[in-house]
Amino acid sequence: MSLKDANLIIDFKDTKIAFEHKSNEELKKAAWLFKMMNNPKLVKFGSTLGLKALKWNLPFAQTAIKKTIFDQFCGGRSLSETQKTINLLYEHNTLTILDYGAEAKTTEQDFNKTMSETLAAIDFGEMNASVPVVSAKITGMARFALLEKIQLGVELMDREKKEWESALKRIDVVCHHALNKKVGIFFDAEESWIQDAIDKVVNMMMEKYNKRQVIVYNTFQMYRHDRLEYLMSSHEEAKEKGYLLGAKLVRGAYMEKERERAKIKNYPSPIQADKNATDSDYNSALQYCIMNYETISSCNATHNEFSNYFQAELLDQMDIPNNHPHINFCQLYGMSDQITFNLAKGGFNAAKYVPYGAIKEVIPYLIRRANENSSVSGEMSRELKLIKEEMKRRRL
Ligand SMILES: Cc1cc2nc3c(=O)[nH]c(=O)nc-3n(C[C@H](O)[C@H](O)[C@H](O)COP(=O)(O)OP(=O)(O)OC[C@H]3O[C@@H](n4cnc5c(N)ncnc54)[C@H](O)[C@@H]3O)c2cc1C
Repeated sequence: MSLKDANLIIDFKDTKIAFEHKSNEELKKAAWLFKMMNNPKLVKFGSTLGLKALKWNLPFAQTAIKKTIFDQFCGGRSLSETQKTINLLYEHNTLTILDYGAEAKTTEQDFNKTMSETLAAIDFGEMNASVPVVSAKITGMARFALLEKIQLGVELMDREKKEWESALKRIDVVCHHALNKKVGIFFDAEESWIQDAIDKVVNMMMEKYNKRQVIVYNTFQMYRHDRLEYLMSSHEEAKEKGYLLGAKLVRGAYMEKERERAKIKNYPSPIQADKNATDSDYNSALQYCIMNYETISSCNATHNEFSNYFQAELLDQMDIPNNHPHINFCQLYGMSDQITFNLAKGGFNAAKYVPYGAIKEVIPYLIRRANENSSVSGEMSRELKLIKEEMKRRRL
């Protein structure tokens, strides 16, 4: 489908709707922040300095990070602090997907903490109509190196077998709780060398908990050339085994790392040849999910305007209500507001991924956001362009 000549049913150019939730002062602050982030040298310097200052417990570091990049991209330091952000989004018809931000953990104690936090987020979701889903990473509850071993099919030592049993138990407890509280759970996709192990666990959870409604969602990275086929075979498997498929679609976040590892270890890269191939598979995957919306509940998790237009158009063409519970859109908090809030205004199921947690815990996430918004070519970022347009409209 080409959208070139289509009479678009939604307009992402509307910056008034995109930034209605921001006061003039907040808008100016966002412009300043994105301008700073546009500079890669500054981002590199800021990331190093910020990490060191936090490590040495320098008192100004927490405040400086909190008032700038944290407030832009995170909901709050705790669930209760995040409530204000959730309410603000909901006032603009936008739902929240809670994402406990701690990453790269290695001890059983940390994994149990992530489980408890996820259970608390699910309880929070039960009490808040504006929080239908929470998100989690399998590596938040299981050790990365153990997942790697499982994927390789290497025989586990006795203590590793026990460790794996505990990890499966944690994941099962979380999914069971999600079902009881009728709150969905998105499992993120991660690196390809642990993703088979993740897929196996998430499929097990879907088979157990998605019998009547979709509670558990797997994530499909369309920058991998084998994932469109995998999405379809996952759907076939779900139909055969009698459960519904939950599918969050993303392009994928670890492209450089994937390509580099494949090169170093001398195996064919799992990544598509170019961006066009990724885009093409992504949009085909969207279409596949919408065509099968009765047995797949999907989330179109992207900042790509075309992919969002494309899904909106598909719903229109197929006469599916904009707010069908199986069809969702999602962007990260603090980014692509022109997409989220215009979709929300158009009556679509629009949501923001809202990370929360102690500042120290969410630092890796914040550094990724800063890098994503910096520009080697010196070109102004898409976010900054949009903010500037809205400032011009408001005559600021
Ligand atoms: C709500 C939400 C949840 C997410 N969850 C996950 C997750 O669980 N796991 C995960 O890995 N990522 C996740 N992401 C990140 C996502 O995978 C993308 O990295 C990010 O959203 C940028 O892609 P895009 O579709 O928004 O935009 P675009 O700017 O259109 O696409 C950029 C993406 O295209 C791909 N790409 C770029 N250049 C090339 C090339 N030369 N060849 C092939 N492909 C290329 C890469 O994946 C790149 O990230 C999530 C994103 C969102 C919004």
